[in-house]
Amino acid sequence: MGSLPEQFVFRSRLPDIAIPDHLPLHDYVFERLADRRDRACLIDGATGETLSFGDVDALSRRVAAGLSSLGVCHGSTVMLLLPNSVEFAVAFFASSRLGAVTTTANPLHTPPEIAKQVAASGATVVLTEPAFVAKVSGLAGVTVVATGDGAEGCASFADLAAADGSALPEAPIDVANDAVALPYSSGTTGLPKGVMLSHRGLVTSVAQLVDGENPNLHFLEDDVVLCVLPMFHIYSLHSILLCGMRAGAAIVVMKRFDTVKMLQLVERHGVTIAPLVPPIVVEMVKNDALDCHDLSSVRMVISGAAPMGKELQDIVHAKLPNAVLGQGYGMTEAGPVLSMCMAFAKEPSPVKSGACGTVVRNAELKIVDPDTGLSLPRNQPGEICIRGRQIMKGYLNNPEATEKTIDKYGWLHTGDIGFVDDDDEIFIVDRLKELIKYKGFQVAPAELEAMLIAHASIADAAVVPMKDDSCGERPVAFVVPSEGSEITEDEIKQYVAKQVVFYKRLHKIFFVNAIPKAPSGKILRKDLRAKLAAGIAAC
Ligand code: AMP
Repeated sequence: MGSLPEQFVFRSRLPDIAIPDHLPLHDYVFERLADRRDRACLIDGATGETLSFGDVDALSRRVAAGLSSLGVCHGSTVMLLLPNSVEFAVAFFASSRLGAVTTTANPLHTPPEIAKQVAASGATVVLTEPAFVAKVSGLAGVTVVATGDGAEGCASFADLAAADGSALPEAPIDVANDAVALPYSSGTTGLPKGVMLSHRGLVTSVAQLVDGENPNLHFLEDDVVLCVLPMFHIYSLHSILLCGMRAGAAIVVMKRFDTVKMLQLVERHGVTIAPLVPPIVVEMVKNDALDCHDLSSVRMVISGAAPMGKELQDIVHAKLPNAVLGQGYGMTEAGPVLSMCMAFAKEPSPVKSGACGTVVRNAELKIVDPDTGLSLPRNQPGEICIRGRQIMKGYLNNPEATEKTIDKYGWLHTGDIGFVDDDDEIFIVDRLKELIKYKGFQVAPAELEAMLIAHASIADAAVVPMKDDSCGERPVAFVVPSEGSEITEDEIKQYVAKQVVFYKRLHKIFFVNAIPKAPSGKILRKDLRAKLAAGIAAC
């Protein structure tokens, strides 16, 4: 990879480390299995049932053999349409062992949203819960596997787990080029796309945080990590499941978020590390139940996926005085973590409030002036770009979108605007890209706009984020009705709501005469966001 000399490139203050470049992801995560065979690995939050590292390893081999009997092999795609569960983790490693790629999806997605991802990813097996089987039954060429006791017409997870995993052949995995995970993300523009994260990429990203002498995320074998964030999002899959297991910590798996149950689990299992997103932190600190639980075991609260303001940080400090609080900054395409708060390091350093960490090791970060493309010095805001072995291979079957995101010198352009201060800390101040984030979940404006424009009574539409205290952002639409149409706000909201998962529902509709566009036809989203910020009367 050649490169023009860059004037301002930022690196971690931690020295680079040797990162394995030959191990498939499952072998890397289970590398120290011999020492940990009997240690707790996954704890089912609902039942308390605990699987040791040895159990998870053995189960994932059996499930791999079961998946293999369904035709899954090197190069296949398996979809996990599951809430957080032990089965999710086991099936992920099973698929990895076979050299297959796992695409993850929110089980609350609507059938059309799921069908699109199944078709785009080429998944041939979908593992889901009996309650969601109806969403995927009838998809051509897809074998559905249901958890628990299974469901009519489906293979069951129990059958897979009963297979003989002792003679599993070694899959011919090319660690540098084979994707192991395929989460979907809209990136900086357009529709959701399959993000190819290779074995080597994910190994690098996990190692950047938890390996080496002075790891950035100092997870210990005795740690107990709360897994309430959905594993289908890369934040949870990477920073909880993979980082936690690599470090040898136990992971408490919580199926869905409920503040009181979460607090109970923290107390019951002595959770030491709580990776969260700001909306969950808000609900936790606002809930009276917080004071009725002993949370003194918590030593780290990690916030990511969306910005966390200083006021909230101050409240957390007051309510959880034993815990160090800090932010990480990730983006699915970045592999996913770009920066992590140094307060979590083995040798911590103080951090400023609002900072979202310093760049991870074995990587380069630069801030680029979006107008000139030149790298900028400290304290000047521009587009955050990152380079390193951890970033995605590219978007599945979409070389154009890949080229727009990763330039020819290997820099991944995040679409986030931020700066690096005198102490190497990164501050995100704005978003150049279209993406809307509702409680950390992605909403792609292009997806909603395509849906709106497909309606006979709508001539044109643009979707932008509206700031919201409880969710971060909500999607709102500017709509130009077709001539003579009397379509109402409610009708539009209903029309969209029927087709999408709850967090993509439109919060408000503003009827306008025209959508502001550049001569190229590009929606001037900044103008619409500015109108919202100035109060809608200005529209
Ligand atoms: P995703 O790919 O779903 O993880 O979304 C990535 C995007 O979330 C980033 O490009 C940022 O816009 C936003 N994001 C992630 N972490 C943070 C953070 N700590 N502060 C502000 N925004 C964040």
